[in-house]
Amino acid sequence: SNRTFTMVKPDATGKGYTGAILDQMIKGGFAIKAMKWTRLTPEQAGEFYAIHKERPFYGELVEFMSSGPIVAAILEKENAVADFRKLIGATNPAQAEEGTIRKNFASSVGENAVHGSDSDENAIIEGSFFFSGLERF
Ligand code: ATP
Repeated sequence: SNRTFTMVKPDATGKGYTGAILDQMIKGGFAIKAMKWTRLTPEQAGEFYAIHKERPFYGELVEFMSSGPIVAAILEKENAVADFRKLIGATNPAQAEEGTIRKNFASSVGENAVHGSDSDENAIIEGSFFFSGLERF
């Protein structure tokens, strides 16, 4: 598919990195198809990350993701999901390649600046969590 879903996470919005991160996405060839600045309640963050419910870091993840504003966006590019994960780099910024968004802006494995969908199916599910059919033009 040619679409993926991303969030700029609360660590990055809080440090004022939003503009630079979006700039790197656009320069990386991704077109913004829908975007919103918002904040998740702990309930909403828990629902978004329900797939990780059994992971030991789930509570920490939900608390972090509801701790401040996030920017949610649907992005378009050929081979979007795989190319975007390449652009953001490894989950743990210490292992992320030089020049990736997480290498540039993330501080730890938990507070890692951005989210990127891991499959076409999840890109649709996650995009639909934030945007109505009307908004996903
Ligand atoms: P994302 O789905 O956000 O793009 P990912 O696919 O790289 O991240 P996952 O393993 O799916 O990573 O974990 C989802 C999110 O949970 C991570 O992005 C990170 O914010 C958090 N996380 C992952 N591992 C840990 C950990 N060991 N401790 C704390 N938080 C973690």
